[in-house]
Amino acid sequence: MTAGTERIYLNYINGKWTPSSTNQIEASINPANIRDIVGYVQQSNIEDLNAAVEAARRAQAAWRKLSGPKRGEYLFRTADILEQRLDEIAETMTREMGKTLPEAKGEVQRGVNILRYYAGEGMRHIGEVIPSTNSEALMFTTRVPLGVVGVITPWNFPVAIPIWKIAPALIYGNTVVFKPAQETAVTAAKVVECFDQAGVPAGVLNFVAGKGSVIGNAIAEHPHIHAITFTGSNEVGKTIAQKAVARGAKYQLEMGGKNPVIVLEDADLDRAVEATISGGLRSTGQKCTATSRIFVQSSIYEPFKEQLLAKIKQLKIGNGLEEGVWMGPCASQKQLETVLYYIEKGIEEGATLLYGGRRLDGGELGNGFYVEPTVFENVSPNMTIAREEIFGPVLALIKVDTFEEAVALANDTSFGLSASIFTQNIAKMLTFIQEIEAGLVRINEESAGVELQAPFGGMKQSSSHSREQGRAAIEFFTAIKTVFVKG
Ligand code: NAP
Ligand code: MG
Repeated sequence: MTAGTERIYLNYINGKWTPSSTNQIEASINPANIRDIVGYVQQSNIEDLNAAVEAARRAQAAWRKLSGPKRGEYLFRTADILEQRLDEIAETMTREMGKTLPEAKGEVQRGVNILRYYAGEGMRHIGEVIPSTNSEALMFTTRVPLGVVGVITPWNFPVAIPIWKIAPALIYGNTVVFKPAQETAVTAAKVVECFDQAGVPAGVLNFVAGKGSVIGNAIAEHPHIHAITFTGSNEVGKTIAQKAVARGAKYQLEMGGKNPVIVLEDADLDRAVEATISGGLRSTGQKCTATSRIFVQSSIYEPFKEQLLAKIKQLKIGNGLEEGVWMGPCASQKQLETVLYYIEKGIEEGATLLYGGRRLDGGELGNGFYVEPTVFENVSPNMTIAREEIFGPVLALIKVDTFEEAVALANDTSFGLSASIFTQNIAKMLTFIQEIEAGLVRINEESAGVELQAPFGGMKQSSSHSREQGRAAIEFFTAIKTVFVKG
């Protein structure tokens, strides 16, 4: 396509901003107003990807030789630049994918904090001394980088997810080829600009925008990419894993969720309602940790439902750039259609639609991909809306009689990312911690919510059984060498 007056964002290969050899670009549009073009991004092909991989390979030797603290200095500088550009990049994020401006600002700040955390990791221990049976020997472990890492990310956290992969990859001495979701490639390009402005050496971080089916797929298959870290859907994750296994590459997948919240009769009801709304509907339900299934004990079911609906009715929906707006649009037309499909499915299969369920297209909202926050009840565990990830502002209320029934139903899913419970009962909390099949267990707190210094990841089909973030990142981004030294 031909560009309008908006800026064209290029690929970043070997330290240079480079147009794709295809000469093709794609418009990135604002889901709150489709007439607003955020910018144009490259529609790259395999040649571009190959050039990026080649640059990352060449940059490897010098980058891995730098000391950890030296690599950390680059990340500290990148953090400072991102912080200076926080307002601008947050605004771009809101325009590009629709989450509200306060949420976008929070996410950019998180990106800054993640960069500083991993910058600090450059100074921390990477091995341990292990007593050898030979008293004259010194035995210890050290860690080495994997080589070139391919980073493939989704559109829902366009700053935080790329940074929580790129920063640990770099600090441990890897070089990177980064393919963002095409939906949010402008925001991603701005993140890469911060690394560029920080003076990160040429080839250490490379950025190629293009289709997942082309560039993402080529990353999975590329013989010179030693490891792939992916966040996105299960469908795509599985194909990446198969390709990685076939050629012996390391891989890490963070995928979907169908996250439960259990509300027991002794719960602080106000808090449980607030957390359900925040966990389920913030970012328009487009978080992998979003609350989706709500199991409420029968004795408090009615008051919980009433309070929930009363609060949801007050939520202001609109353009995330406007002050006071609580929920923005779905991130794309495709996402809106998926949400409407699941709402239709819920009705068809016999769930009761309590609230919402429609596209909001009156007045200015008509130019965007808005949907009402939606609540179903009488949802049975075998219905599609109780089983598949919707990735939209749709809540399913399920009445349960006992704690045991709630836990059993909460576990009746192929996913296992996040789960939360509201109760004052310590014994039940402890049983929940033991029995719930989820990588993130939250007590009296919403299902969404991640702290960058703690491990993050899911059980069952939500992940490749690996963990990201915090100190756990070292497990993926390095290989251990066990060294035995005898004088
Ligand atoms: P997606 O369709 O799987 O896309 C994720 C990334 O993979 C995008 O960059 C996409 O490129 C690329 N891709 C698409 N097809 C590919 C292929 N054949 N080979 C390699 N890469 C390919 O997921 P999404 O719709 O963007 O994101 C939503 C999903 O992400 C949800 O399932 C959500 O739960 C999950 N998620 C998980 C976490 C977590 O940490 N567990 C966090 C956030 C989101 P293009 O889209 O640019 O074509
Ligand atoms: Mg967009």
